[in-house]
Amino acid sequence: MPSFLNLNYVQTFQQLPTQLYSPMHPMSLSDPKLVIASPAAAALLDLNVDDLYNPEVLPVLSGKALHSDWQPIAMKYTGHQFGYYNPDLGDGRGLLLTEVENSRGQIWDLHLKGAGLTPYSRQGDGRAVLRSSIREFLCSEYLAAINVPTTRALSVVDSTTPVYRETVETGAMLIRVARTHIRFGHLEYCSFTDQHDLLKSLCDYTLDRHYPDIEKQCATLNLDSPYTAFFKLTVARTAKLIAQWQSIGFAHGVMNTDNMSILGETFDFGPFAFLDDYNPHYICNHSDHQRRYAFNKQPDIAYWNLSVLAQALLPLIPREDLVRILGTYPDIFKSEFHKLMKTKLGLVKNTPADEQLIKTTLDLLQSGKMDYSHFFRHISDLHNPATAQNLRNQCLDIQKFDQWKQIYLERLASESQSTEARILSMNMVNPKYILRNYLAQNAISAAQSGDYSELNRLFQVLQDPYSEQPEHESYAELPPNWGKELEISCSS
Ligand code: AMP
Ligand code: MG
Repeated sequence: MPSFLNLNYVQTFQQLPTQLYSPMHPMSLSDPKLVIASPAAAALLDLNVDDLYNPEVLPVLSGKALHSDWQPIAMKYTGHQFGYYNPDLGDGRGLLLTEVENSRGQIWDLHLKGAGLTPYSRQGDGRAVLRSSIREFLCSEYLAAINVPTTRALSVVDSTTPVYRETVETGAMLIRVARTHIRFGHLEYCSFTDQHDLLKSLCDYTLDRHYPDIEKQCATLNLDSPYTAFFKLTVARTAKLIAQWQSIGFAHGVMNTDNMSILGETFDFGPFAFLDDYNPHYICNHSDHQRRYAFNKQPDIAYWNLSVLAQALLPLIPREDLVRILGTYPDIFKSEFHKLMKTKLGLVKNTPADEQLIKTTLDLLQSGKMDYSHFFRHISDLHNPATAQNLRNQCLDIQKFDQWKQIYLERLASESQSTEARILSMNMVNPKYILRNYLAQNAISAAQSGDYSELNRLFQVLQDPYSEQPEHESYAELPPNWGKELEISCSS
């Protein structure tokens, strides 16, 4: 088993022109302590998680020691924040430490978030606090466990370094593991500053690293330009990602174009939330006064973000091709969302009434103020009178519930798969355990006072979200009222 100190480190991004980054060293933290590490993320690097608990590794996880092969950089990018172009962005508090090539030939970026000041820090202090680092850790690893494309988290380290937010907090560092750190904003930077050769170099690098089979893809997609194929694949991946977010009730909160991965992965975790009661207008970012990133606006915002990406690609792709491909987004999103919602409802056959049934179900959840994930987990067992009664009791619109139940049960009766098979497949797409804000908050509060046991327990539970875990039943309960009203600070 390799150790973190002797992995196969490679530095491919540094072969690109230097306008794309600034070489930097991390600013270390005082008295670092390892808070948590992810076995699943470690496995991507061929590591056993125990290796990360080796005291010799801690200086590396906390930015104090660097491997001799590494050439850390802060990446330069720009982006549209809340609809407006900001030319001054870049890694303001994180560094691409290195890339790792694993035994399967996959290359993973290691990014140290909270690593101190860089040329792109603007007014910021270059730091990340424990609270936000734990939230990113839990969410990345949870999304991976429910099969949603996402960047990953290897480790969180806390320290005694004071960091000033609304109150004094402690500085933390997270190691993010990702197939790429290239954002829409990278291409915006190259294009909107008229560095078209740089744009081409970056796209060629992206194709080489992430789409080695692009020539084959071009043939399959009947396109003659690899850049056009790249845009088409990005549109499709993004549409599918957002359909997954909508189907699992995930609100990202800050869908600025600098937080959009060119590989269609969930990227950059701020004030995100998983819906408790189904409220399509939910806004998790309380500084989002224009309600731009409300839950139900995410599909349109991703479309808008892709239109910005299309503009950035104008020097490489004919306008009419960009417009045509962009135009495929709504249908890809819609059909993917439809498919996902059907699996959540346990429906295999296709009938013309399915779309209406999905809509009626979401209407019921909204007007009945029902908990989104709890509802879907339990409807697999709706034939059980106790389950049906329990769900009915949770619904504030009983008449609507009864009508919906009748329609749904009739529709299920038209399916040919056995009840057992249906329950099994529904329970494999409707998680029992959800990363609810209040659960994360409980774990964070304990961690802030130095007790990491709750965090580690919650993390373990969430790593196996579809299984029954009778000893952890309390983590699957409906959230308490205080838990639904939590305001998550956006300063991170
Ligand atoms: P975010 O909202 O986390 O996606 O960050 C938007 C931009 O602000 C990125 O360029 C970040 O690197 C930068 N940024 C966020 N927080 C800080 C901080 N504490 N210090 C320096 N830069 C930051
Ligand atoms: Mg960001």
